[in-house]
Amino acid sequence: MNTLLQKAIEGNRLSPAEALNLLKNAPWTQVAEAANSMRHRMNPGNKVGYTAFRIVNYTNVCEVTCSFCSFCRPAKSPEAYVLSLDEIRQKTLEAKAKGADQIFLQGGVNKDIPLSYYTDVLKMLTQELGVKVRGFSPVELVRIAEFNGITLDQLLDVLKEAGLSSVPGAGAEILSDRMRQMLSPKKLPAQQWCDTLVACHKKGLPGSANIVFGSVETPEEIIEHLEYVRKTQDAAHGFKSFVVWTFQPQTDKFPIRHVRGDEYLKLLALSRLYLDNIPHIEVSLLGMGLSLGELGLHCGADDINSIVIEENVLENHGLTSIEEAEAFIKNAGFTPYRRSLNFD
Ligand code: SF4
Repeated sequence: MNTLLQKAIEGNRLSPAEALNLLKNAPWTQVAEAANSMRHRMNPGNKVGYTAFRIVNYTNVCEVTCSFCSFCRPAKSPEAYVLSLDEIRQKTLEAKAKGADQIFLQGGVNKDIPLSYYTDVLKMLTQELGVKVRGFSPVELVRIAEFNGITLDQLLDVLKEAGLSSVPGAGAEILSDRMRQMLSPKKLPAQQWCDTLVACHKKGLPGSANIVFGSVETPEEIIEHLEYVRKTQDAAHGFKSFVVWTFQPQTDKFPIRHVRGDEYLKLLALSRLYLDNIPHIEVSLLGMGLSLGELGLHCGADDINSIVIEENVLENHGLTSIEEAEAFIKNAGFTPYRRSLNFD
């Protein structure tokens, strides 16, 4: 184990088999110690980043119907909605008043929304309100292009021209086709998820990647996921960071299990070691809570993602103001810095 960990610390790439061996057999504290060394080699100094954005869920209508999702509604549901431009403007102004300078546009796959809605929203946010926008998961992008009879490349040109700065690596969950069939058979297969993000990154729309675990995935599928992400990054270098999440209870249609703290920290640390081509690792305070998040900053992570201004999907275990974020990072023994959307 020590030889493998030393190999990674010195900048040599771990193979999938080696990573699987570490995941299954290494003590989590040793993996964490090695990841912390690698974090300081890749990001020297004591700085930990944070950012401030508001998530705007512009529609809850979604035809993908992931088994774990309690947010989506059929188009005819009395609870179905599409936010108007005025509603999005209002939410953005509220977020700006609390210090946010970014909006994360996230919604369902809704074929009734015209392309002009997306461009109008993007222009309003960037030109009128002056915020940066990250938005649209790979499945949203692929379906929006299909609904409008244009290619993905054409869609990305249109959205970028309207003001989009970044695309999240959302909807990855576990990049294993067995798991994806169980989670959401109408979502993109693993390779198409990767190819879509390579197209985004080549257009100058970088973003983040993540893993969501804590179901019936196997250790082999976790490593398969990390390998998909690493290969995608080798192809276009658009992932600025990687986040480790756990499934949160939303429905009873999908099996989730309790993830122990040491299990979370071990995967966080292994991600730092394996993803030698992604500059930053983020802890997920929202899903795992503040105590574990603080420990994560000593296990390879160097960023706490965003303070929470609105989150419709998950119970809030995060920080809600810039002052709280800075105090949290200082209390963990680091120097806070407010980073830009794309770490540039
Ligand atoms: S694609 Fe997103 S909004 Fe649609 S069902 Fe899946 S998680 Fe929910």
